[in-house]
Amino acid sequence: MTTEPRTSIVWDYAPAPEATDHVRLRDRYGLFIDGASRDPAESRYEQTLNPATEQPIAEVAWAGPADVTRAIDSARAAQPKWAALPDRERAKYLFRIARLIQERARELAVVETMDGGKPLRESRDVDIPLAAAHFFHYAGWADKLRYGVNAREVAPLGVVGQIVPWNFPLLMAAWKLAPALACGNTAILKPAETTPLTALLLAEICQEAELPAGVVSILPGDGETGATLVRAPGIDKVAFTGSTAVGRDIQAALAGRPTSLTLELGGKSANIVFEDAALDQAVEGIVNGIFFNQGHVCCAGSRLLIQESIIETLIAKLWRRMGRLRVGDPLDKNTDVGAINSAEQLQRIETLVAAGEDEGAQRRTIACELPEHGYWFAPTLFTEVSPAHRIAVEEIFGPVVSVLSFRTQAEAIEKANNSRYGLAAGIWTDKGAKAFEVASALRAGVVWQNTYNHFDPTAAFGGYKESGFGREGGPAGLRPYLKIAR
Ligand code: NAD
Repeated sequence: MTTEPRTSIVWDYAPAPEATDHVRLRDRYGLFIDGASRDPAESRYEQTLNPATEQPIAEVAWAGPADVTRAIDSARAAQPKWAALPDRERAKYLFRIARLIQERARELAVVETMDGGKPLRESRDVDIPLAAAHFFHYAGWADKLRYGVNAREVAPLGVVGQIVPWNFPLLMAAWKLAPALACGNTAILKPAETTPLTALLLAEICQEAELPAGVVSILPGDGETGATLVRAPGIDKVAFTGSTAVGRDIQAALAGRPTSLTLELGGKSANIVFEDAALDQAVEGIVNGIFFNQGHVCCAGSRLLIQESIIETLIAKLWRRMGRLRVGDPLDKNTDVGAINSAEQLQRIETLVAAGEDEGAQRRTIACELPEHGYWFAPTLFTEVSPAHRIAVEEIFGPVVSVLSFRTQAEAIEKANNSRYGLAAGIWTDKGAKAFEVASALRAGVVWQNTYNHFDPTAAFGGYKESGFGREGGPAGLRPYLKIAR
């Protein structure tokens, strides 16, 4: 009899679906304007689907121009009173929202997973706790604002329009709303078309927290709603997270206007593994870097740069580890990789993967049974990639990693910086000095050492180049929502 080494054990798991009977979803959601749910002026409602089953979950109102105007009027009326509250009073509301998110965490996690397709393990352990942590963090800043900007006298900007994508719906809403409100602004949030539900539950939480009417409005809708919001008179600041193409459109629309703007856009981040790295640890970091949230992560480590001397060993370890990823029902607690967020996104991934094959890169996709319904893409690894291939240049926003090699530290830096994006990077090495040297030379807003996709409300996040400008998180995240009064 031969005994297998421990590392090759493949466990079979029994299904472990999370219960959904505790979720209190309504059949139909209105717009959240002036502290209450409202019917849209044009009576437009759209279904939001579960991407893992293609089944409708609820009907959601989409805002048109008249609704945008109504929300802005309400936000303008509320703003002076909100800003005039003693700082500690504003903080109390944010603390309340944070605590209510914690109280409803289980429900929010399930709804996030149903609406967006991400594994429950992630919405439960990452998205929802971090959303609460952002409100806690900025609640703490509300009465210390001037210390966040070099002890200058500060004032809020006024009414802010905030647009978020579908990959971290509640977390992105928290990144936007918490600092804006702490600084005394009122906010109008537009969630993404495929994932409006947790933002609408957040509207209920705002009501439960007795947040004054008009301080937060939530306007689901599509790109047209977003375009109307950013162009509307009465918006003092636009904060956008989404694709570089739309960011560019918004920047052009606001050129020559006094509206302040921050953009958190796409990325093609380099995850660099040096030969002196702890390789098993690096493999975990690579997997987390690209397969977390199906790779629907702006800072995903989608360009894997490996030092030539270890490339074969590392790829073998990575491939073995990828074979253990469990792809399937996002509500199952053992699932690692859930559903692709929408049919359109699946199509985008398939197009780029086909381009990778056509251009001559070597594709490997793990063998796994995919559910019959829903949108799925199995974790994929490309080797033999040249820096000019589309899969090495364009953001795929899916569970697909492209491997490039390098010989020297200088070459690693040059290849990592050879991108029109500059959002994040990872460095895997045992040498502290090397990590500092490389990190200082990288044009990336966030650089992780011996870890990846590590988020914390106290740390600034944001990009260089076509990844945008402005920072979210930590004291740096206050600055985009304040003007210096003196
Ligand atoms: P997207 O740009 O298509 O949409 C993002 C949001 O903008 C949605 O709410 C959408 O309805 C809205 N929108 C679309 N067209 C608009 C317009 N003309 N004017 C105003 N709003 C408009 O992006 P997406 O496909 O939903 O999200 C994926 C992109 O977001 C990726 O490129 C990803 O890298 C990026 N992203 C960046 C960060 C970051 O912090 N840098 C975080 C998450 C996602």
